[in-house]
Amino acid sequence: MPQGTIVKVAGPLIVAEGMADCRMYDVVRVSRHRLVGEIIELRGDKASIQVYEETAGLGPGEPVESTGAPLSAELGPGLIESIFDGIQRPLNVIRDLAGERITRGIEVPSLNREKKWVFEPRVIPGDRVQQGSIIGIVQESAVVEHRIMVPKGISGRVKDIRHGAFTITETVCEVEDDNGQIHSVSMMQKWPVRRGRPYAEKLAPVTPMVTGQRVIDTFFPIAQGGVAAVPGPFGSGKTVVQHQLAKWAEADIIVYVGCGERGNEMTDVLREFPELHDPRTGESLMKRTVLIANTSDMPVAAREASIYTGITIAEYFRDMGYRVAIMADSTSRWAEALREMSGRLEEMPGEEGYPAYLASRIAEFYERAGSVRCLSDRERYGAISAIGAVSPPGGDISEPVSQATLRIVKVFWGLSASLAYKRHFPAIDWLQSYSLYLDRLAPWFSDNVSPEWMEMRSQAMRVLQEEAELNEIVQLVGIDALSWKDRLTLEVARSIREDYLHQNAFDDVDTYTSLDKQFAMMRMILMYYEKGKAALDAGANLSAVIGLPVRERIGRAKYIPEDRLSEFENIESDLLSETAALMEQGGER
Ligand code: ADP
Repeated sequence: MPQGTIVKVAGPLIVAEGMADCRMYDVVRVSRHRLVGEIIELRGDKASIQVYEETAGLGPGEPVESTGAPLSAELGPGLIESIFDGIQRPLNVIRDLAGERITRGIEVPSLNREKKWVFEPRVIPGDRVQQGSIIGIVQESAVVEHRIMVPKGISGRVKDIRHGAFTITETVCEVEDDNGQIHSVSMMQKWPVRRGRPYAEKLAPVTPMVTGQRVIDTFFPIAQGGVAAVPGPFGSGKTVVQHQLAKWAEADIIVYVGCGERGNEMTDVLREFPELHDPRTGESLMKRTVLIANTSDMPVAAREASIYTGITIAEYFRDMGYRVAIMADSTSRWAEALREMSGRLEEMPGEEGYPAYLASRIAEFYERAGSVRCLSDRERYGAISAIGAVSPPGGDISEPVSQATLRIVKVFWGLSASLAYKRHFPAIDWLQSYSLYLDRLAPWFSDNVSPEWMEMRSQAMRVLQEEAELNEIVQLVGIDALSWKDRLTLEVARSIREDYLHQNAFDDVDTYTSLDKQFAMMRMILMYYEKGKAALDAGANLSAVIGLPVRERIGRAKYIPEDRLSEFENIESDLLSETAALMEQGGER
């Protein structure tokens, strides 16, 4: 392997000469400690290398050896339930081997080489296969069936297929190509993380990823294969939102990429995530989760790599035909790593010191999300939905990372510190948030929930917007300036906020709301609005409309279990009779 020599060390960046035979993005081993690094700039025979490990004590003259291969992820059984660092080193394994801090230069494979997995073939000798064809399955965890696919560059006829327990490097299948050459296929493949994995066709985002969270599904839905950003001012409930999505969103596999904010924050994630229960299976949520963690004691360069490692793993499961949700928290920390490396490379800085390519790097990440038809199979579809948290300093989203992110994502869930302060959870600000998928998803909601869904959603949103306008008037000239109808609007807006948008993640029933129930709840609130206005028109008193007995039941409707949705019909019929009675009285006055 080509060998060079260190000429300069600047924190996580080293410069080596004698590297003319290397390629951009080759992985290298640096110094006698054999630290892992990656070539990020080549000029003549000089290479700039970002080192993924602590470089203290390194100096000029030490050797640098290229591995001749780009930074790649190992893909195969053993991914699920793993906790990796940014360059896919298995943190739990390393901890057992070497204690809390990662020993420099430690060489541990990403996936366990000794463990045997039971491989069940899905092809027989003579079958034609190509890249992406599923040749067999492994029950990887209680809930995930791992589908073993033919890796890139192999196609032909199955010559031999095995059955039984194998390690991930043993041959399970032999494929004879058209030239008569035999290729051995094992259960593990490698993929360079900075390159997107191929698919047959990208599909339009026309199906929502239902989350059971009312403010999201009703007002700001994300599509399967969609991209969303969520800013997270401290204490605004970001963690709870992420946990709720991980638990309830319609995704088969969760990939969580964490870039530690403060010292022990990642440790919290590492502790909390494994404790989450998967409501659908009753198992631990880890049984369908891959965690990638950058604790703050790891060098910045590893952070930079982590989101590529994460999305590559997500793509691999997508290619099996799964719906994957990847959460990156936070992309701001990742961008800071980019800024630091760029600074050390002495590149021309852009806005606020971030490199000029910041926006294109952010776009490259989100563009790897999407809904696709998979390779080699007309009937196999997969999706990656990406949710990135941004944590701008001081919560000011006018800074470059937030701005670059907002230009590319289609959904913005604006978590608001002031709502959280008022204990309105989830603290997603309905006036600030948006979903650009609404129009694309409208036909789906209309066909699958109700033809009235979109209209109701807009009507409810209008009430909330009117509330904001009316509140301004009230602040200027007092409540007396408002008509009774306006005051009813305020009352209904309050009901939408408190009875609908507010959702308690810790209540057994309220934690998840099906679309049918969301529809029933919204219809009931809007029916109250309509009938209330009619009663006012008929001369009824505002306090009588507000004080109708049925209002209390509207307030408690969120606690109606999913198997008792017929309750809503009772509430609606009482609502009708109570308002009818009011109208009669009003008429008599
Ligand atoms: P952050 O991660 O933004 O610092 P957390 O997600 O930990 O904030 O939320 C802070 C607190 O807010 C939680 O401990 C919880 O008490 C409350 N909270 C947040 N979201 C909800 C929710 N959906 N339902 C009930 N309580 C919530």
